[in-house]
Amino acid sequence: MIDFSPTEDQLAFQKLAREFAQKEIAPKAAHHDETGEYPWEIARKAWEAGLLNTHIPQEYGGMGLGVLDGCIIAEEIAAACSGIGTAMEANTLAEAPVIVGATDEQKRKWLAPMVEEFRLAAYAVTEPGAGSDVAGIRTTARKVGNEYVINGSKMWITNGGVADWYFVLALSDPSRGARGMSAFIVPKGAPGLEIGKKEQNLGQRASDTRGLSFNDVVVPLENRIGAEGRGWFLAMSAFDHTRPVVAAAAVGVARSALEHSVRYAKERMTFGVPISSHQAIAFMLAEMARDVEASRLLVWRAAWRVDRGESAQAEAALAKLMAADTCMRVTTDAVQIFGGYGYNREYPVEKLMRDAKIFQIYEGTSQIQRHILSKAVIKRGR
Ligand SMILES: Cc1cc2nc3c(=O)[nH]c(=O)nc-3n(C[C@H](O)[C@H](O)[C@H](O)COP(=O)(O)OP(=O)(O)OC[C@H]3O[C@@H](n4cnc5c(N)ncnc54)[C@H](O)[C@@H]3O)c2cc1C
Repeated sequence: MIDFSPTEDQLAFQKLAREFAQKEIAPKAAHHDETGEYPWEIARKAWEAGLLNTHIPQEYGGMGLGVLDGCIIAEEIAAACSGIGTAMEANTLAEAPVIVGATDEQKRKWLAPMVEEFRLAAYAVTEPGAGSDVAGIRTTARKVGNEYVINGSKMWITNGGVADWYFVLALSDPSRGARGMSAFIVPKGAPGLEIGKKEQNLGQRASDTRGLSFNDVVVPLENRIGAEGRGWFLAMSAFDHTRPVVAAAAVGVARSALEHSVRYAKERMTFGVPISSHQAIAFMLAEMARDVEASRLLVWRAAWRVDRGESAQAEAALAKLMAADTCMRVTTDAVQIFGGYGYNREYPVEKLMRDAKIFQIYEGTSQIQRHILSKAVIKRGR
């Protein structure tokens, strides 16, 4: 029997997230978009409300929520502002490989404090010369006695300037390529860690994106997550868990664009009738609704599979691809429906269109999702 009804707990989280988003995020979204100021107050309140770090297991003080729960929350937050949502979700991405690969002691050290106090984390994998091609990273971690010495640069790191710790992928054995990669936690303020300037991005401007430089940064052996050579696996393992959540945020932005468009189309008059009476606009709204609903179903299915412990790499890629491309198309159509007003900062939809673009780029570009999906389709024959 297939059941699409959220559980009582999921409905409660959806309500909590929706009310939080409407009360705390929506009124300040334009301010953070305009100024690029990091949303400290909102992120702290979200942490107090239990909307951050939701997947940290209960034995480390967290709620141990599933990926589907995270998707339901992420859609609501992003519908109000996906820039602030990304600032909040960066913790999830940094924590995911730690949940998968860290020892009990490491989880007590790095995950439990995220629940006990308001703290932030970042996932530092991309480099100036290697984004899609993660195997091309150059950052090294040289073992010296009971320590590692890290050297190299990371680029486009969300929460780069605000994190209390960084999940860092580096080559502990450069001769072995991806199999020579190990994962480390580098705490904020480690000597030799330099934080770059905040990048001025097209959209999601509340989120803090920066480059990082590692100049002989020393971390003890106990900061290595997983065995030597397991870094690639851990860094990639995060994506099955986080891609559905990112895709859910794209659904939230697209949904918001659709809702704004419907309201506007019923009010705006041309040729003596509301523009929603013109079939060209009405069909655009229908297609927007079609794609938002289809994306949400793919997102929920991918999340459901991850929560059941089933392999979901292709499903997560499909959900991310569909939701990201839908988000870009639907927000662009929203600008079209608003006409000249859509192109103006006084109206809400140009922000949504700017915010949408990044969903086709981060957490694996839409081309990389097609690559993953095509391999699965060819292998499975369907
Ligand atoms: C705002 C923002 C936040 C980010 N946050 C983080 C973060 O927190 N942590 C982190 O580690 N990274 C982060 N990233 C990095 C992001 O994941 C990368 O930018 C992304 O993976 C693409 O890598 P790239 O920019 O090097 O582009 P490239 O890999 O150079 O790709 C350039 C173009 O070529 C295409 N392409 C590349 N390879 C192929 C191929 N094999 N087949 C077909 N097309 C291909 C791509 O799709 C893209 O269109 C962030 C980026 C941005 C912009």
